[in-house]
Amino acid sequence: MNEQHSFRAEVKQWIAENFPRTLAGQNPATVGYAPALEADHELWRQRLAEKGWGAPTWPKEYGGAGFSQKEERIITDELSDADAFNPIPTIALMGVTMVGPTILDYGTEEQKKKHLIPIARGEVTWCLGLSEPGAGSDLASLRTRAEDNGDCYLVNGSKIWTSGAHHSNWCGAVVRTDPDAKKRNGISFVMLPMDQEGVEPRPLKLISGASAFCETFFTDAVADKSDLLGELNDGWSVVKRLLQHERQSQIGARTAGAKSERVQDIAERYVGLDDSGKLADADLRQRLANHLMDRQSHALTLGRIAAEAKGNVEVSAASSILKNSATHVSQTRADLILEIMGDQGLGWEGDAFDPNELETVRSWLYGMAASIAGGSFEIQYNIISKNILGLPETTQQG
Ligand SMILES: Cc1cc2nc3c(=O)[nH]c(=O)nc-3n(C[C@H](O)[C@H](O)[C@H](O)COP(=O)(O)OP(=O)(O)OC[C@H]3O[C@@H](n4cnc5c(N)ncnc54)[C@H](O)[C@@H]3O)c2cc1C
Repeated sequence: MNEQHSFRAEVKQWIAENFPRTLAGQNPATVGYAPALEADHELWRQRLAEKGWGAPTWPKEYGGAGFSQKEERIITDELSDADAFNPIPTIALMGVTMVGPTILDYGTEEQKKKHLIPIARGEVTWCLGLSEPGAGSDLASLRTRAEDNGDCYLVNGSKIWTSGAHHSNWCGAVVRTDPDAKKRNGISFVMLPMDQEGVEPRPLKLISGASAFCETFFTDAVADKSDLLGELNDGWSVVKRLLQHERQSQIGARTAGAKSERVQDIAERYVGLDDSGKLADADLRQRLANHLMDRQSHALTLGRIAAEAKGNVEVSAASSILKNSATHVSQTRADLILEIMGDQGLGWEGDAFDPNELETVRSWLYGMAASIAGGSFEIQYNIISKNILGLPETTQQG
């Protein structure tokens, strides 16, 4: 048995012995938490945290397992095969995929020890205060400021679309620290606790009734100087890196769908087959085939990049290409499924629709956000044209 096979066998066995079977199919990222299963969820979190499998590629001294990306993929596959899941990235919210990797890149030893271990163990939840009412795509126009107050900064201003701010313990925020510098030069990245008087997250109600985001107001909120990430006034480099990590986390997940039903099977169920055994709608068949080819091309490209990088892919501007491609594939899939379901793809609630149909409609609607979150489609094209194709900057000054 080669090394990879024996690693896979060990992972499979550990999951079989440690995953509480009551949690099969109960991934909180997709079905939320069932209160009756709280104790089992907590037990599973603790077991994963002890193994360092919450963030398996992070070094052991910072709460990870020191695994390669290939080994991490084996764990993900085996969890999926066992109908199990890793809840820690969901609990940590922006912690495992974005803030943590950026602390690994820019943090001091003290910051790594202080912040990474609780993130990798799923003991803290992080949000990100980047966007402001006047600074979304043009993030460098941000106006929230931080002023030197001895051993801390005092933060004043407001952020918007702060996902999960109302249940986060920490916030990574970009703030203006030098109002006189050119706009991308006078920015810093601070980390501050949410549980303090000067921070007020106000949930924004969405069309679905849920509140995933907040407006977050800072009034003399305190950020300790030891929690400045990177150099003072060099926060633009930190946030560019953080956004690359965000895009990297968005390039595969939605297309992986290891356990989700194949679109062609859904089509067969709802639309049926003709006498020759083909999908009974020729136009749909053509578009479905195009989608499957796009999906396969995206997956093969990801595989090629991983193979060329010998398993450990560095984040770069290329993540913008992959983010757009992943978004295109996942949104096309969602559109096709809805169309295939016909009238059954129009339900929001009620007995006329089964739970799977209702869930499909909700995730189709939520999936639209994928071409905005982490930087819109158009902004990725701008990055590709400037940083990959070397074309001149035409859209943003300063
Ligand atoms: C699900 C979701 C979660 C989010 N979570 C967070 C979070 O946790 N923290 C946070 O800080 N923010 C978060 N955001 C906000 C997100 O980062 C912004 O919505 C995004 O950067 C776009 O900014 P905007 O909404 O201000 O749109 P705008 O910047 O106003 O853009 C409006 C439209 O104009 C286009 N446009 C703008 N500038 C250009 C240009 N130069 N060239 C071409 N087209 C352009 C855009 O593509 C877009 O179509 C989240 C957004 C979503 C959808």
